[in-house]
Amino acid sequence: MADDCLFCKIVRREIPAKLVYEGDDCIAFRDIDPKAPVHVLVIPRAHVPSLNEASDPSLVGRLSLVAAEIARQEGIAETGYRTVVNTNRDAGQAVFHLHLHLLGGRSLAWPPG
Ligand code: AMP
Ligand code: ZN
Repeated sequence: MADDCLFCKIVRREIPAKLVYEGDDCIAFRDIDPKAPVHVLVIPRAHVPSLNEASDPSLVGRLSLVAAEIARQEGIAETGYRTVVNTNRDAGQAVFHLHLHLLGGRSLAWPPG
């Protein structure tokens, strides 16, 4: 855990979030500035700064499977959705605690900007 990390604070319930999933090693909550009708962030409980530092294949895999489960719950599994992990500057990573974006509920342009 990192003391000053925003998402670690959400894990510790020190700042509020709209949680949609709580598991043993990851949680998910609604993005505070949603870019689509469904915009959920799936994060590990443990502090991992980015995908570059990730080393546990089951944890990284679980982030995707939790996103797929939430997509079903949110009713967008059939219409479709996108999962995104922004890593470092060129991808615009703003929060340095690994997180997987789940976006859906509208048509999403490809390629992304
Ligand atoms: P990224 O650019 O991939 O690092 O995305 C960080 C995401 O975190 C952005 O979509 C933000 O809107 C979102 N975010 C920032 N602060 C919060 C917060 N307190 N609760 C929920 N989402 C947040
Ligand atoms: Zn953290």
